[in-house]
Amino acid sequence: MTERQMLPGCPYAKKCGGCQLQNLSYPEQLKWKQAQVRRLLGKFHQVEPILGMENPYHYRNKVQAAFGVTRDRRIVSGIYQSSSHRIVPVDSCQIEDSKADAIIVTVRELLRSFKLTAYDERREQGFLRHVLVKRGFSTGEIMVVLVTSTPVFPAKRRFTQALRARHPDITTVLMNVNPYRTSLVLGEREEVLYGKGYIEDVLCGCRFRISARSFYQINPVQTEQLYQKAVELAGLTGVETVIDAYCGIGTIGMVASAHAGRVIGVELNRDAVRDAIANARANGIRNIYFHTADAGEWMASIAEQGERADVVFMDPPRAGSDDRFLSSLMLLAPRRVVYISCNPETQERDLRFLTARGYQVKAIQPVDMFPHTHHVETVVLLFRRTPDSPDAG
Ligand code: SAH
Repeated sequence: MTERQMLPGCPYAKKCGGCQLQNLSYPEQLKWKQAQVRRLLGKFHQVEPILGMENPYHYRNKVQAAFGVTRDRRIVSGIYQSSSHRIVPVDSCQIEDSKADAIIVTVRELLRSFKLTAYDERREQGFLRHVLVKRGFSTGEIMVVLVTSTPVFPAKRRFTQALRARHPDITTVLMNVNPYRTSLVLGEREEVLYGKGYIEDVLCGCRFRISARSFYQINPVQTEQLYQKAVELAGLTGVETVIDAYCGIGTIGMVASAHAGRVIGVELNRDAVRDAIANARANGIRNIYFHTADAGEWMASIAEQGERADVVFMDPPRAGSDDRFLSSLMLLAPRRVVYISCNPETQERDLRFLTARGYQVKAIQPVDMFPHTHHVETVVLLFRRTPDSPDAG
């Protein structure tokens, strides 16, 4: 282990709490994560060595800052303290994109010169609630989303111009209106103030369009590794029917589509599906289809209609999948399931369900998507045992 591989004295460490493993060197963090996955999933299969990052800093392509006011009415921006709504003022973070951090500081400075206020959660008044910046690491495109409490944004054109003058590489600026008393960052209403309203990025040779509200993996370097592994484990030969469940903007399905007969993606978020359809078209992919639906409900309905699938990719949120989805999976009876998870605890629960009903774990590959935090991503391959398969029993 080397000094350089430790977060060199993050000044916010105590108050922020976001990087739970920062007292460990990076190699020690990887060991910790490996042990974590082995503890939870080791009973199903041997765990491959975790894929770590060469340079585990400034890897986040999406940065979200909360804005607020102090008791003496100063505007602050930063990160919510873990499990509270106190804002820890942060101007630059060692895991976030530096450019995004600089843009957020500029927005804070501009608020003052434009005589705009930040939102005060206690009094439920004030203007700017959050700033969200997304950056396409391979295209260089940058989106800035100003999340406001009201649609009334005086001098919005001039404000946008001033921001772009300070950061000419910003490619699009949006206002998102969130008037609700909620811990969710984004509201439903959006207005494009500059540019096309979305950014694009390239992953595994495919070009993806990303909207403000669509999910996109936050660490593109490791996402390429993750997707490559997932597609490799799927063992596709060009003829299979593949389901990409919880597909987001269609990334995994599109990467897999070149090796499959056809791919069907399902996703709950309407904006993400709109992005997915545009993405397939822009990449000239003709064998992929998308549905906006709850993955469990949709799987149940196609299973009832007698549909079958050869391979199912599933990549649910932290809460894992649900009984409805997993039961329909039994009916669809894919030969292979590639289960990608950002939470090995819920994955363990779901794997218990699947392995009790005829599936067998064949590979477990952890990937470090979130260095310095305690989060770990895993790809698990499952095979359906058939009476004539050599490993049946
Ligand atoms: N596979 C994608 C997205 C994974 S994140 C990628 O790698 O980028 C999980 C996705 O599941 C999010 O896009 C979220 O909107 C979606 N989601 C959450 N609950 C869902 C549900 N019940 N049914 C379908 N999709 C859901």
